[in-house]
Amino acid sequence: MSPESTPLPPVLLDVPLGEWPSMIGVSGAEIYRVRQLQDWFFQRRIKSFDEITVWPAALRRACAEKLTLRSLVPDGQVASAEDGTVRFTYKTRDGLLFPSVFLHPPQGGDPVDPDEDEVPGGRSSLCLSTQVGCAWGCSFCASGRVPFKRDLTQTEIVEQIFWAEELTGRRLQSILFMGMGEPLANYENVVRALQWIRGSEGLHYGLRHVTVSTTGLVPQIQQLSKGAPAVNLAISLHAADDETRKKIMPRSARWTIKEVLKAAWDYQVKTRGSRLTFEYVMLDGINDSQRNAQRLSNFLRHRKCWVNLIVYNPVPGLPFQPSTEEKVKKFSDILSERGIWTRVRRPLGKDIGAGCGQLSV
Ligand code: SAH
Repeated sequence: MSPESTPLPPVLLDVPLGEWPSMIGVSGAEIYRVRQLQDWFFQRRIKSFDEITVWPAALRRACAEKLTLRSLVPDGQVASAEDGTVRFTYKTRDGLLFPSVFLHPPQGGDPVDPDEDEVPGGRSSLCLSTQVGCAWGCSFCASGRVPFKRDLTQTEIVEQIFWAEELTGRRLQSILFMGMGEPLANYENVVRALQWIRGSEGLHYGLRHVTVSTTGLVPQIQQLSKGAPAVNLAISLHAADDETRKKIMPRSARWTIKEVLKAAWDYQVKTRGSRLTFEYVMLDGINDSQRNAQRLSNFLRHRKCWVNLIVYNPVPGLPFQPSTEEKVKKFSDILSERGIWTRVRRPLGKDIGAGCGQLSV
């Protein structure tokens, strides 16, 4: 048989925890082996069963024959000369490439999470991808121009965390589902990945340290509030009226702004303690007028949410320009005057094509 036709062994994290005992072939008095595997995998970050020195050789060998622990291979990295951003490229087992962005803003600079505590040495975050390519076609985004290939598996999503920590030698404080792809269009795998990331049997990240960003898929937001670990929600709104939203986010605009907001408020009520943020990319002459700011503020007034005004990163070949400083300031002032928590985000990693919406590997 040629190597191509040999089926690849399953990856451990793709197997639900409840099936680990039968998968590794332990039961009864041996069941503590599962706990050991969890510990060696999540804490010690082993890459092969051979590393589990507390296991008998026969068990290690038997597991290695039917399971594999890693599914990605790092395929290059570029570090920003301007800030602490590193863009990693990974190769999947079927040979696809996708990016993931490590953020480590200089201390005293624009923090990724301004309301988080300071961490000695600075906070690190990972912007991870959930799909190879993106089928949502937001007209201003570079990822939207990369043809959709496939959803990433739960393992491929979680493994980006392992690799980022290993390759940078830093612990991540925040996990942001803001890389390539629309997370909620890959609902099942994203929820399973969240279970590993948030669960005490996995990486055990706190609610406030995990954020899922979406272009606003209403049914999936509703579903997320019922069956998934709670997370912070970031909604890419980007417009204050449905006509504009339809022009720049044609596919997501099948849900009206009102429907998206209703789903967001409901999510917030059901997952107490989660933070809700609206992302608003400032596009010159498209969505940045004072009238737009007033409309947006009417929607969000008296609600507990943040607005992130994102300074647009021009994408070669796309006809959009960032709004002027003055317009961004005016827009931000209008929201703030009306009591809406607003901050202006200057994308990090611009010089290496790792800023918001530049990801295109
Ligand atoms: N698909 C999800 C996750 C990606 S998050 C989502 O859209 O929410 C990436 C964020 O960067 C989104 O808010 C996206 O709209 C925004 N973005 C896209 N292109 C951009 C660009 N060129 N400059 C700045 N922000 C951009």
